[in-house]
Amino acid sequence: MPDKVTCIICPKSCVIEATKEGEEISLNGESCNRGKKYAILEVTDPRRIFTSTVLIKGSDLKVIPVRTTRPIRKNEWINAKELIDKLRLDAPVEFGKIIISDFLENGIDLIATREATKNDTGNIDLSRKF
Ligand code: SF4
Repeated sequence: MPDKVTCIICPKSCVIEATKEGEEISLNGESCNRGKKYAILEVTDPRRIFTSTVLIKGSDLKVIPVRTTRPIRKNEWINAKELIDKLRLDAPVEFGKIIISDFLENGIDLIATREATKNDTGNIDLSRKF
């Protein structure tokens, strides 16, 4: 049974059927070479931009959204999530700031996708009961 891949390279959104037989991949439905390359990558080595959130202190926000600067392999996502779950940031954080350079040692950075300003209380944990 072929895998169905919707090409996202251009607005035409061709639906490409990819059939794997051993090492061979046959395609049906692609309209150009760019779509062919995309479909082969999707069935052999799918990658996505990884997005998540990281805990932050000293801001009115509890978490800040982050993403990788380029797509990473889907099989790297669990490792990525484990690393991010250990992270704690201090406000302020600017939009686009590199949170981890060379995230996963693959040359791809992890960046903030939102600004977090410092609140008036600095880094005092407001949830703490005195
Ligand atoms: S296969 Fe080619 S024409 Fe079709 S969506 Fe992909 S890039 Fe566009």
